[in-house]
This record gives sequence, C-alpha cells and structure tokens, in this order.
Amino acid sequence: MAIEDDVTVVGGGLAGLTTALSAARAGAQVRLLSHKDSTLRSASGLVDVLGYRPESAAEATAPIVDPFEAISDLPESHPYSKVGESGVRDALALFDEVVGDAYQGSHTDRNALLATHGGEVKPTARYPASAAAGLTSDTREALLVGFETVVDFDAPLVASHLESSGVPFDVRGATVRFPGDFRADAKLTRLADALDSDERVEVREETGSAGYAESLPARQALAEVVKPHLDGAERVGFPALLGQHDPAEVRASLESELGAAVFEVPMGPPSLPGMRLEGKLLGACREAGVRMTTGNPVVGYETAGGTDDDGDRIAAVRVERNGAAIPFHAEQFVLATGGLVGKGIDSNRSGVREPIFDCYVPHPDDRYDWFAAEAFGEHPFARFGVETDDDMRVLDAGGESDFSNLRAAGAVLGGFDFAATKSGAGVSLATGRAAGLAAAREVSE
Ligand SMILES: Cc1cc2nc3c(=O)[nH]c(=O)nc-3n(C[C@H](O)[C@H](O)[C@H](O)COP(=O)(O)OP(=O)(O)OC[C@H]3O[C@@H](n4cnc5c(N)ncnc54)[C@H](O)[C@@H]3O)c2cc1C
Repeated sequence: MAIEDDVTVVGGGLAGLTTALSAARAGAQVRLLSHKDSTLRSASGLVDVLGYRPESAAEATAPIVDPFEAISDLPESHPYSKVGESGVRDALALFDEVVGDAYQGSHTDRNALLATHGGEVKPTARYPASAAAGLTSDTREALLVGFETVVDFDAPLVASHLESSGVPFDVRGATVRFPGDFRADAKLTRLADALDSDERVEVREETGSAGYAESLPARQALAEVVKPHLDGAERVGFPALLGQHDPAEVRASLESELGAAVFEVPMGPPSLPGMRLEGKLLGACREAGVRMTTGNPVVGYETAGGTDDDGDRIAAVRVERNGAAIPFHAEQFVLATGGLVGKGIDSNRSGVREPIFDCYVPHPDDRYDWFAAEAFGEHPFARFGVETDDDMRVLDAGGESDFSNLRAAGAVLGGFDFAATKSGAGVSLATGRAAGLAAAREVSE
C-alpha cells in the first residue's frame, strides 16, 4: 500500500522537528523522514535568537542586548525577514511551551550572557535551567570543576579566560578525578548515567601507607571530591554531564551536599543539553501524532508526472532502504536537511548544490570568492543555502517557486551565518514553525 501523508518533512533536527510539530498541531497528518543524528547532539543546547549584527559579527563588537528589537534592521536576505519579529516571538513561545521549566530566559526580551566551555561569554535567548546559576551577569564567586578524563573542559583555563574577559565575579578552576573506577575513555553519557541513577562508586582514601576503599552514592562521592576546592565559592560549575535524564534532581543533590548553587557549562559533542532538548521535541511530536521514519536518507523525488524535472509539483520523495528507493507520497513537503555541516547543502567541483531536489543555491562561480581573506573574516560560504519567498516556498534562480508544494526551514536556508551572528536555533525554530503552519494551511484549503 502506498505511503501517503498530508505533509512530509525531510530532516529531523531542530528545524524539522519544529516544522513537524507545528504542522501536526495545525491538524495535518505529518511524517518526518530523517537520516542521521542532527546538530542538536553536537550543539550546546542554547537557543540563540540573534547575538551579533551581521555587519559587526566579524569585528567582535558588543553583543546585541535585545535580539527582537534588532530583527527589523537585518538585511532582506536573512531568514528572519520572511517571518518577521512576530514570527520569531511566536516560535519562541512554542519552544517555551514544549520545554516547560527545563529552560529559562523567557522572562525578558534581553539576551542572557553565558560562559562557553572555551571560556568565552556568549549572548543567548534561552538556556537550560541547569545552566542558570552560571550566568556571567551574576556576581557570586564561582568555582569551575573539570575532570581529568573530560579533556574538552579545562576548568583552570576556562576560569582564566573568563577573568581576562572582565566578568564581574571571582572565578577559579580545579581539575579533579571523577569518583569511581570509570575507564579513562568513559563516555560523558556513562558518567551522566552514574549520576542519574546515583549508583554506588568506589572511593579510595589514602591513609598513610595503607589505602582503603569505601563505596558511596555517586552524587555524594562527587561532592566529597569537590569540597576541598570550594573555599567559599557560592556557585560551582561542571561540564554539562550532570545527569542524562534528570539534571534537576542531580543538581539539587549536589547543591545540598556542597551548600552552593550548582550549574552546568554547555559543552560540544556529545551535548547532553542538546540531547535532552531533542528528547523533549521528539516527545511533543509523538504526542501530536507525527509519524517518524528514521535511519535512511531521502535520495530523490517524483513529480506528479512520475519522472524527475517534469512538473512543478512534487508527488513523493524517495527513501533509500536496502538498495531500494521507497516512495513517500504527500501533498506538501518541507526541506529541513541542515546546512553544510549536516550535508543539506553540498559542494563539489561544479559548485554548491542542494542534493535532494537540486534547488538553486546562490554562490559565486569562482571558488576563491567563497572565502574571506582573513581566517576569522565573514566567509561567504557560511551564508550559502536555498532561498525562499515569505511563505517559505523554495525559489529558483529566477525568483519563482521551484515546486509549488516545497518549502524549506532551518540551516538549509541561505542568507545568514548562524555562527557569526549567533542565530542558529532561533532561525530553525522560527522558519520551522512558519513552514509547518503554511504547509498545513495548504492541505486544509
Ligand atoms: C557545533 C555546533 C554548535 C552550535 N551551537 C549553537 C548554539 O550554541 N546556539 C544555537 O542557537 N545554535 C547553535 N548551533 C546551530 C544550530 O544547532 C543549528 O543552526 C540548528 O540546530 C540547525 O538545525 P536544522 O534542523 O536546520 O539542521 P540539522 O541539525 O543539521 O539537522 C538536519 C537533519 O536532516 C537530516 N538529513 C540531511 N540530509 C538528509 C537526507 N538526504 N535524508 C534524510 N535526512 C537528512 C540530518 O541527518 C539531520 O537529522 C550549533 C551548530 C553546531 C554545528
């Protein structure tokens, strides 16, 4: 029997999940097709709306205080110009509702400032509740605790970078051994699980020439390791591994053991805050009735006439499974396959392309013009992506819609540099919501 849905979303990252959720809640029967893990698993889990203006991003000028106020000043090419300030606000409201008290930042329009695991201070609109006590606008003295085996977080170095950037609090860093007999290459998720379940771990005490071992619950054991370094610090920051599933409970236990506020510093891959966020979004999609087909790539499409390039309406996308191409039919399609990182946009000798529908991706012919002369300059390639109209319909080189029932959302869109302007998650949320609602609206018309 043919697979038939109202709306098919290709890509299961923040943009695809937001699209699918919005379309399903608007009454459409939605299917989400996704191949591999999205950038949610490597990104910090922070939701940046707009941290820097495009023209000043490369000059490291001051961060934007109110991202919503700055949206109307963005160039026409920026995806926010399609959805407007109200579209961004509505998407953030959807996000706030889905994540509940797992995130903070909705009490104000102003960007919060948080420390990164590299010791920089970055502006962001929404942050995990687990990171809240780490705001760099907070003046309480902080101790950062790193672990010998978690080499991506060098606590003394992070503390020294923060001090040099002029944060308004005293900060120190200490590196300790994670308690227990974990392998040196134990994954972050293994350490997080130990804290989640509060499993008993072996703790060795050296007493003179003879050592003895006792076993303690993991949270208490961790607190015991940290206590000698506290020295009056009112808050203690750890790399983000304080529980995979229940960070609030792990944090509360550590706070009561340490007598200090505890926070997580968001990390790179594997990002536990990103995975927790993915879990919340997947749960909301399932609840809204989204059907999910994962693990295989979409490799092409069929038009209404049955052959590629033969019409302006897509009838189905083809998913490659065990050497066969399975068609998934729908009335509306949304492309949310990510940018250059997720391979939603690809480049080869002949240029830059969108690999599934061969959508037009504006780019200079000469490869030398893809890069800025300075390493940290504004590289044009960072803004490569597909173009859409205000209804998120994908446009061809002539500014006409490529296919009347194909929209796009998230990092596959061009016209913005998410890393330089700190607007990655915000664009995925705002354009995902807009594309999902527009696709569902067309189905119901
Ligand atoms: C290291 C890193 C750190 C970041 N940190 C931040 C941050 O701190 N704050 C912030 O706001 N943003 C951050 N971002 C940016 C943000 O994560 C992204 O802009 C945003 O999540 C992109 O979401 P997306 O859904 O558009 O794309 P992606 O997350 O790339 O998801 C695309 C999905 O499409 C799937 N896909 C691709 N091709 C196919 C195909 N042919 N068939 C089926 N499925 C396919 C992929 O497997 C993937 O699941 C960061 C990004 C990275 C890479």
